[in-house]
Amino acid sequence: MSTTQIPRYAVVGNPIEHSRSPAIHQAFAQQCGIELSYERLLAPLDDFVGCITAFFAQDGRGLNVTVPFKEEAFRLARSNLSRRAELAGAVNTLWMQDAALHGCNTDGVGLLADLRRLGHDPAGQRILLVGAGGAARGVLLPLLEAGCTHLRIVNRSPDRAVELHAEFTAGLPQYAAQLSCGALDTAGPGWNIVVNATSGSLSGQVPQLPADIYAPQALAYDMVYAARPTAFMERAREQGAARIADGLGMLVGQAAASFEIWHGVLPETEPVLHSLRAELGSG
Ligand code: NDP
Repeated sequence: MSTTQIPRYAVVGNPIEHSRSPAIHQAFAQQCGIELSYERLLAPLDDFVGCITAFFAQDGRGLNVTVPFKEEAFRLARSNLSRRAELAGAVNTLWMQDAALHGCNTDGVGLLADLRRLGHDPAGQRILLVGAGGAARGVLLPLLEAGCTHLRIVNRSPDRAVELHAEFTAGLPQYAAQLSCGALDTAGPGWNIVVNATSGSLSGQVPQLPADIYAPQALAYDMVYAARPTAFMERAREQGAARIADGLGMLVGQAAASFEIWHGVLPETEPVLHSLRAELGSG
């Protein structure tokens, strides 16, 4: 097969140079015996449309979308969205089908898979979701569908939490009794799983949550990942969380779900996660 015939995939964002998606997808492809190329695409902030149009016109098959284009991707794939993308209002996976752009959001599937890997299935659990941005939107429905007994959204800007809560209870009234929202200091005690879906850890900042939020045996999960425990994870340990985890497993899990959409096969995540963790630690 010549290089030009190898199916093209890519991750698009701005900035993009630090994305680990190419390594993850190449590892999955090798595992499944699939030949593909997977690039990083730096889209101009004012021309996401032009960038992805050119990609698909030049034999591009599928795109992962990252900051800051997930909402724009959602608008572009508006006519062909998965239910999860529709409710999340954000798309991280794009592909062409029958000459039309399709979109899905696999962030929630990635988080769920990682929580289960860690032995913290959300079923029957009380979950505190910290943050009300794109990542929080993406994981809300999968967490509710997984059977948590209560999910509270808290955010630094409480209005955003209220807006997200209102949108979801209007769209999914069957979950209204399990959902609540408020400011960070209204979190309340006794949560089994606390998910930090804020970007605070990127700059070493910790959301100002009350000290008594963790139930016995609770998991504190930060969507951000790093070589060392994040500031949120450190604070959680001080506040009594029994277990802490970062978002590297979610990253690999969301990539696996995108891979399955594009190639029809779900790759094994554990070996890829282990090698990424080793790379992160050494570099
Ligand atoms: P957004 O910019 O959409 O939202 C950011 C959120 O963080 C808002 O709720 C914002 O609150 C809050 N926030 C930022 N700084 C602070 C702070 N110092 N204290 C308290 N709250 C703060 O980002 P996303 O939702 O898209 O992403 C959030 C994080 O999740 C990112 O770091 C991203 O890298 C990570 N992520 C990881 C994934 C993975 O696979 N591991 C997948 C997707 C995202 P406010 O509304 O008040 O501004």
